[in-house]
Parts: sequence; C-alpha cells; structure tokens
Amino acid sequence: MQDIFVIDIGGTKIESIYIFDNLTYKTDIMKTPNSKNFHSDLEILIKFIIPKIRSNVTKITISFPGLIEEGIIKKWPNKPYWEGYDLKSSIHDYISNPVEIFEDSNMGAISNFYIFDNSENSIYINVGTGIGLGLLLNQQLYLGNNNYAGELGHTQVQSSKTINCSCGKINCLQLFSSGKGMLDRLLEIDKYYRRYKTLSEIPKYDQHLLVVLKEGGELLGITMSNLINIMDITNLHFGGSVINNPYYTNSLLNVLYENESKFLNRKLNIQLNVLRNPSLVGGILIASGYNHLPKYQQNPLKSIIKLINSRSKKI
Ligand SMILES: [Zn+2]
Repeated sequence: MQDIFVIDIGGTKIESIYIFDNLTYKTDIMKTPNSKNFHSDLEILIKFIIPKIRSNVTKITISFPGLIEEGIIKKWPNKPYWEGYDLKSSIHDYISNPVEIFEDSNMGAISNFYIFDNSENSIYINVGTGIGLGLLLNQQLYLGNNNYAGELGHTQVQSSKTINCSCGKINCLQLFSSGKGMLDRLLEIDKYYRRYKTLSEIPKYDQHLLVVLKEGGELLGITMSNLINIMDITNLHFGGSVINNPYYTNSLLNVLYENESKFLNRKLNIQLNVLRNPSLVGGILIASGYNHLPKYQQNPLKSIIKLINSRSKKI
C-alpha cells in the first residue's frame, strides 16, 4: 500500500496523520492559524505540512470544514477571510504533490465504511456550530448534481418561532438544532446568556437551555425521520459536540424511535460520537481506497484507526 498523508482542517485545530510502511504512523496537531490574513495562515499550514512528507507520499488528502469547489473556498463561516481563495493551487505554490480536498461532512460519511463495516448505505450527521450531512449510497459518496448534497442545516422546519436564516430563507433547521442556533435562541430570550461561548458552558439544568435543547433535538429527529422514510437508510452515524449533550440526544432519539415504531418499525443502527475525529478517519479511508482493499490490507488500517481513536489529542 502507498503512503498516506491526511490533514483535517478544523475551526480550532488542524490534525494530521502520516501512515507509511503499512503499519507505522505519525500524528500531529496544531491550532488553526487565525492571523486574519489568508496568506499568513497558509504559510503556517505549509510549515506544518512540509517536514512531514517524504517522497513516497503520492498525494495529500485534506478534509475541509466549509463549502469548497474545485479547490476554491466558497464558504467558511469560521474564517470568512479565507473565502474566494484557491486553497488547492495555493498549496501547490509550495508543494508539488497532488492535493485532494473534501468537505468534512463527506469525510465523516466515508468514515462509515469503518463504523458500519462496509455496509451499502449510510448517513453521517455532524451537529456542532452548524449542521452537516454526508451520504454513502451503494458504497459511493453521493454529492448530487452540483456537489451540494447534504445541506441538512438549511432544510426548513415548522417551529414555535419564525427566524430569518443567513441563506435568505426562514426557519432553517440549523437555527433551532445546531450549537450556534441554540445559543442564539437563548440570547434572544435573555442577554444574560452573552457570557457563554458554547452550550456546554451553561449550567446543565438551566430551564431555558432545557427547552431549547428539547426542541432542537426534536426538530432534528423529525427531519432525520423524514430522510429515513425517503431513502430507507437505517445506518445513522451522529458526530459533533452537541451530540455529547444527553438531553438533546435523548430528545432526538425519542422522536426517531417513536416515529419508526409507529410506521415500518425497521431496526435503526444509530452510532453516537463513536469516533474522536470522523473527518480524519474518513481521510485515511479515502486515501487508501479502503472499501476496495482486501481484508488483509483493511485490518492494519483498522488497528491504526482504533489506536488514534482511543488517544485524546490535546494541542
Ligand atoms: Zn438557511
């Protein structure tokens, strides 16, 4: 098997893994640069990459947390000053190795090959600051006619309130069910919540928080239940910081199981935050062509994934 080099770019940290000689691997992590200037950030990223790659690296696989089209960054709400730049060619200005870039929700979907043991169809849903979704259909990543498949966060829901979304529509799911959406809802109720940067900082039994979490979980549950009915996909992998909140997740699961029991009563295979970094795992799998590998080549990769998964990485 060829050497594998994967980088996962996140909003707060960048993680890399280099797998060589089949079983050996090295990981590294750094804070995502935040100089407010794309070129300065890029230089830091390049300095992170260059010492790690040997001549045996046939390509660099990157997972990116925003909307990207043929290497050009269309949208990254975390760092709008990166938008419009061609990330792929910018990296090529410094490094000649081929570069492939995938959106992180799609990488999460690829990690399903590992989670659901090569099953045909599955969905990955990430609930963090926003909401992302990746689909595996017939063991292939499904991207849609325009590569925009998976915009779950901007599907509209019926709720107790009318809220305008940055996309131009009203009542998009992410306004009610994402980490940022729920924090914004609390701010609307009381400016007191301004002191909190994330939902996890708010005291667990705060009454307003519980109401917002319940509605958020339910609306995601209804939306996913609709998707299960349309697609008949029962392998669901949920990731992201909000999924760690048991109150939110219970509310989500109650809707999913209740709706399923009322109608077709299929067996849902639901996995909650089983991978520390689904995008990095997806990157390893796509770079290695995992689902086309024979078992004896899949197994060493599985062991590596198990190891990196059990380690909590701090910067
Ligand atoms: Zn929207």
